[in-house]
Amino acid sequence: MDTILVVNAGSSSIKFQVFGLNGEGRLSRHLKGQMDGIGSRPRLRASGANGETLADRAYPIEAVPDVTVAMTVAGAWLREELRVTPLAVGHRVVHGGPDYHGPVLVDHGVVARLERSEPLAPLHQPHNLAPIKTILANFPALPQVACFDTAFHRNHDDVADYYALPYQLHEEGIRRYGFHGLSYEYIAKALPRIAPEIASGRVIVAHLGSGASMCALHGGRSVESTMGFTALDGLPMGTRPGQLDPGVVLYLISAKGMAPGEVQDFLYRQCGLKGLSGVSNDMRELQASTDPRATFAIDYFVYRIGLYAGMLAAALQGLDAFVFTAGIGENSASIRARIAEKLQWLGVSLDDLENSKNGLKISPAESHIPVYVVPTDEERMIAEHTLALLWKTRPFHSTRERAS
Ligand code: AMP
Repeated sequence: MDTILVVNAGSSSIKFQVFGLNGEGRLSRHLKGQMDGIGSRPRLRASGANGETLADRAYPIEAVPDVTVAMTVAGAWLREELRVTPLAVGHRVVHGGPDYHGPVLVDHGVVARLERSEPLAPLHQPHNLAPIKTILANFPALPQVACFDTAFHRNHDDVADYYALPYQLHEEGIRRYGFHGLSYEYIAKALPRIAPEIASGRVIVAHLGSGASMCALHGGRSVESTMGFTALDGLPMGTRPGQLDPGVVLYLISAKGMAPGEVQDFLYRQCGLKGLSGVSNDMRELQASTDPRATFAIDYFVYRIGLYAGMLAAALQGLDAFVFTAGIGENSASIRARIAEKLQWLGVSLDDLENSKNGLKISPAESHIPVYVVPTDEERMIAEHTLALLWKTRPFHSTRERAS
């Protein structure tokens, strides 16, 4: 069967999924896996469509020192042991910069352009690009598609896209890009099927995971995001602070003597829920903790989501529905309940039973604003984009049968 491989590479892990393509051109997930602990305790784990274990093996640290080698090892396992030879590979790439408004077929020129965006996502972009480069070097004929977290937001109005900086800087690419676009796009595409009554309306989607942001959708199109130039802005996250007066950064440099690299590391890795609580970046651990600072970090998270909901409702000039997604949004009834309290003034109320069951619609019929929980699926979105681009660019190579 023809397959599409989806790769999502980070600094210490590579996640991958394989989707099969049936005769009608529909995608179904065959397996998911990851190589994590790269550079520390490398481990390859994978499970099939029904959750059955396909691999669970540890490697010595020197066998998988970086993301490039991890891709080679995981790729060899897929090829040699599972006989997976994909039609194409789709990659999650966090930043498309000003150039890319949609997925793109990768070649050396595209890689060079995306490398120029590395300073815009220093902790993600180089790792996203590493497996692309490895595959390009070893399998130059294998089509690869880069799918961007920024692309879904690229049609924002200018007033949402600009910073109040001299125009030249906008031209150079200093813009409010927005992130988690593959997640929002998946939800925007799913709504007509699972909640048609709200799909064409004004919807706030809260993607609440280790990274967190919110997006204002109007008729399924992104019109505003809480994130901006980099994935640091907006809501507090596991280890990132969210919105910060740029004066704080100046203070860290001038008064605290921090070097730019130290500030970068600090803002991406030491702040957010972790910095505030001093306990953990993980919401479940904060909820389990009795430390008052852990409680405060949760209060802060909920408070800021309430504030940003007001901002996005203003951008939409009203609100027709609210959607929760990602790790915290999909799984934590108590956090959803606390956020809903902050949104009461907008007309939000919850059905406690449905909320406790992580149901699809978690508001009662009388809630002025319906509230939904929609599990996101960024990997499926990437697989769909990859297949669509493959068909568009090489229609006669869309299946092995046609190619042969
Ligand atoms: P993600 O990045 O989407 O995988 O989300 C990770 C975050 O979701 C972590 O902070 C987890 O603690 C949080 N999370 C996952 N499940 C739960 C749960 N049942 N209750 C609270 N937080 C959760």
